[in-house]
Amino acid sequence: MISVDDYRDRVAALLGSSPATTLPLAAAAGLVLAEDVRAGVSLPPFDNSAMDGYAVRAADVGRAPVTLPVADDIPAGRVDVRPLEAGTAHRIMTGAPLPPGADAVVMVEDTDGGTSTVTISAAATEGAHIRRSGEDVLSGTVALHAGTVLGHAQLGLAAAVGLAELRVRRPLRVLVASTGTELIDAPAPLRHGQIYESNSVMLAAALRELGCEVEVVRSVVDDVEEFRKVIEPKLADADLLVTSGGVSAGAYEVVKDALSGQGVEFAKIAMQPGGPQGCGRWQGVPVVTLPGNPVSVLVSFEAFLRPAILTAMGHTDVSRRHVRARLLEAMSSPAGRRQYRRGVFTPSEGEVTGVVGPRGGPGSHLLAAFTQANCLIVLPEDVTSAAEGDEVDVLLL
Ligand code: AMP
Ligand code: MG
Repeated sequence: MISVDDYRDRVAALLGSSPATTLPLAAAAGLVLAEDVRAGVSLPPFDNSAMDGYAVRAADVGRAPVTLPVADDIPAGRVDVRPLEAGTAHRIMTGAPLPPGADAVVMVEDTDGGTSTVTISAAATEGAHIRRSGEDVLSGTVALHAGTVLGHAQLGLAAAVGLAELRVRRPLRVLVASTGTELIDAPAPLRHGQIYESNSVMLAAALRELGCEVEVVRSVVDDVEEFRKVIEPKLADADLLVTSGGVSAGAYEVVKDALSGQGVEFAKIAMQPGGPQGCGRWQGVPVVTLPGNPVSVLVSFEAFLRPAILTAMGHTDVSRRHVRARLLEAMSSPAGRRQYRRGVFTPSEGEVTGVVGPRGGPGSHLLAAFTQANCLIVLPEDVTSAAEGDEVDVLLL
């Protein structure tokens, strides 16, 4: 048996590192920046007003109340702003360029709002309500560093400094295939002995959440020739093939039968659920073969695929958050295997950790319990039982 950690490294090594590509901003959400982004403009690009009000010289309004002629009107977007003469005011809106000669903005609330003359009731200090060019970002400096995960704030900044595209680590193109003659797709009615296919739906959603591009082949029957015929032509466009089902110790193990001796190695991993696994290359394309039970699929995804895929796509923070929590009920675990159980973690007020209780039994077909879980309880290889009140390791999902 191979340890969970060794197998995780094996899967990560298989995927390597995805190359850089250029994508429009909207397609870059969630991806990792491949190069530093230097700002081509300063932010703000020009001195501008932080308020709706009047651009003035502070010296002219030092003895408020004072009435000044309004010499110009500057809405946001105006590009032909004239200098402010001494003893006058320009009406100005938020974001509009400050006229040369002005050194303060009086907000409209401190005036009578006049358009030909304005009476200002409060003195203004030099620099009041002015947003200075470059106080957010200076042109020529690095606005975003390589390795940054592009969330909405980062994409907003890229847009603000005038970029339409970004160099990012390319999303992995993943081909997902479910195997099993018993699998059918809704809305076809179930015949006795058949089940609705669900693994590909879960895997595709989980992979897309990581930023992958996913193609799905649902329900390949347990026939080696058919498996090869359906999957092989699609490999050319994939960076990774993920299969489910057909890798354990029974007969009709289609994935094992099709890929053994073709560059994919099958092994037992010291974990529960998700023991039977395979990985390697088929026609040069990385392949990870998961067992068929839905909970095994999800646990394998968490244990191996998620960290390997995130690493391949340039992420450095690839681990789920771990906390220690007190167990609300006793649990047992097979010797020599790391057990992952679905759980519900409740943080305790005023403490860093909290309490956790298992949901559903260890059975790897119990998918409904997973939907109520917010964590995985991890019982290490050398633990065979944990009592109520024991501290356990919890992976927050
Ligand atoms: P296998 O690993 O092929 O022996 O499958 C183990 C169990 O998981 C069996 O009960 C299968 O029916 C079930 N199973 C396999 N693939 C899927 C799937 N794509 N969706 C739902 N259940 C599946
Ligand atoms: Mg099967």
